[in-house]
Amino acid sequence: MQGMQLFEPKPVSEDPLSPVQMAELQPGPNQVRLRVSMCGVCHTDLHIVEGELALPRLPVIPGHQIVGVVDAAGEGASRFRIGDRVGVGWLNWTCGECDFCRQDQENLCPNARFTGLHADGGYAQYTVIDEKFAYPLPPRFRDADAAPLLCAGIIGYRSLCLSGIQPGGRLGLYGFGASAHLAIQVARHWDCEVHVFTRSPEHRRHAEELGAAWVGGADDAHPANLDAGVTFAPAGWIVPLALGHLRPGGTLAVNAIHMSPIPEIPYDRLYGERVLRSVTNFTRRDAAEFLALAAAIPIKTDVELQPLAEANQVLQRLKASDIRGAAVLTLTGDR
Ligand SMILES: [Zn+2]
Ligand SMILES: [Zn+2]
Repeated sequence: MQGMQLFEPKPVSEDPLSPVQMAELQPGPNQVRLRVSMCGVCHTDLHIVEGELALPRLPVIPGHQIVGVVDAAGEGASRFRIGDRVGVGWLNWTCGECDFCRQDQENLCPNARFTGLHADGGYAQYTVIDEKFAYPLPPRFRDADAAPLLCAGIIGYRSLCLSGIQPGGRLGLYGFGASAHLAIQVARHWDCEVHVFTRSPEHRRHAEELGAAWVGGADDAHPANLDAGVTFAPAGWIVPLALGHLRPGGTLAVNAIHMSPIPEIPYDRLYGERVLRSVTNFTRRDAAEFLALAAAIPIKTDVELQPLAEANQVLQRLKASDIRGAAVLTLTGDR
């Protein structure tokens, strides 16, 4: 099988991913093998190829927004039939036994493995996954439209939930890429008034098309009247500014797996019972809730399709905020 593999992390401008030809994968016990159709490109992939995250193994095949068809089942795997279409996200496996797993917080499981980090991911023609961590996909979504739901969508949904935003509330979104363009549709479905902070003129236009009530920059003047905020950009300098936009009692949820240092925060930005919290991974419950909600709304995904071989170029453009919506790599084509 063919894939795009990371042997050594380096700046994305130096094309860190290399095309490789690999032996056929065999599903292990309780695993299914997927023939990959599409794989979404996530900002986390950029952090992985550039080595900003600690890499537990090398070489590794990135990619954790995988849509594929089950084409083989390992010993004991009986949940899906050959030919079923399923999705795979960032959560690759959790232990099911630790305190976090037992308390519906498997996103914090210290033994968790993540797709495209601990296990080879979807920048390849085939992948394997424990059947418990594959998701049936709502039929209404094409493969290409389903792929970005599997991380950008689910983690955006978890971020909204952790921000405490209520139906009809006033919400700030900071950064407007793959995750935010899906989160805004959930927030609009909840009748929220959405304020979008982004530098990119194209991203501002996109936010307005999707129903933003206000667009501007994080450092533009804005009253402290937001009920909640979610940051999507890995830029620590935004955090004190976003806290300054919150009303007393509001929460800022930071949706970032890696972030530049947060500058000093004057205490009056936090005083008034404002809450600053991070968002870490997601649970299978989040995935199931979000996929059902996405189909019910229905969420419209803006995608740009590129062949797998273009993965380095796509990551370069993602770094430059030059992708509208979500980038998706194609492997076996659409259906
Ligand atoms: Zn656990
Ligand atoms: Zn992701």
